[in-house]
Amino acid sequence: MMRTPRPLESLTGKELTRKRSIAGVSTRTLLYLTGTLAARGFEWLLPVVLSKSTDPLWPDPGASIEKRVETDIYGETVRTTQSMIIHKLVACSTAYPKLFVLSPNVRIEKRERRATGWHSYEFTQLDFEVRDASSGSVRTLVESAVSGLVRDLQKSARAELESLGRLRGVKVPETPFRAYDRETLVDRYGEGWEHELPGAIRNPVWVTNIPREFYDFEDPATGKWDNYDLFVPERGEILSGARREWEYSRMASKMARDGVRKENYALILRLAREGRLRPSAGGGIGVERLVSWVVGSRHVGEVQPFPKVPGVVYEL
Ligand code: AMP
Ligand code: MG
Repeated sequence: MMRTPRPLESLTGKELTRKRSIAGVSTRTLLYLTGTLAARGFEWLLPVVLSKSTDPLWPDPGASIEKRVETDIYGETVRTTQSMIIHKLVACSTAYPKLFVLSPNVRIEKRERRATGWHSYEFTQLDFEVRDASSGSVRTLVESAVSGLVRDLQKSARAELESLGRLRGVKVPETPFRAYDRETLVDRYGEGWEHELPGAIRNPVWVTNIPREFYDFEDPATGKWDNYDLFVPERGEILSGARREWEYSRMASKMARDGVRKENYALILRLAREGRLRPSAGGGIGVERLVSWVVGSRHVGEVQPFPKVPGVVYEL
């Protein structure tokens, strides 16, 4: 039975020590990843929380949203950030060819998801995007960052990993990671491949060609999606990314096909129509999931100082 993460004020001394060790690993993780990206010429942008336009999270076979948070300010309807994908595409096409942002995402996941140990209703994405990049180049960057991170943590967070009993828990991943077309996994494991895959791998793997939101590139010639998810052993998906659509006609027809309301995406459609949207590729890594995998926590909420567990609302 999964234990629901509890708030700070109700933890025992031993549990608080564990919480602090996890924070040590999390600190080193953030230092390593932000440092790696900054050293490679990425600009570090600060996040936003309220906008008219946010990620539709639709259609996405993995999405399960109970409600979308909207409010009116100054006579306009705004939404809390579900992801900064729309902001990233505009920012990357205009001022910042290589960017990243630590972005708070609010996704009111269905309450049943409390039991997965893998969902919170608020979490942080390390979201990045690179103008004119190929999928392959982004995947190579992620592989070296994930593998370099584990190597770094074994030194920089040695005491914390030791106290969490995880010094030998996560091996330094071997690069390059294997990549599987989703269709191959459906043949092998059936439609529940996402649940089967983590138990069947020893090293992180990529899954490509996943039908989902309009902004991921769908090759009209082959019908394949040029996107990728990173799965880690035992746990599951920690990153989703893609090469992006940038042409107006393709974005607009996918929105019509999927029933996504064009009026919520007026700006990005206008930029695309004016030829001001540029090709790019990128991804977003769930920071809490990454740390949860490294420290071996049973619930991703355990990594959060203030757990946001689906269906459970604490005071803080
Ligand atoms: P997405 O683009 O929707 O796949 O989100 C990007 C990444 O954010 C995922 O690969 C996960 O690592 C993370 N993520 C998504 N939803 C959640 C959630 N409810 N709780 C924690 N992390 C999440
Ligand atoms: Mg995903």
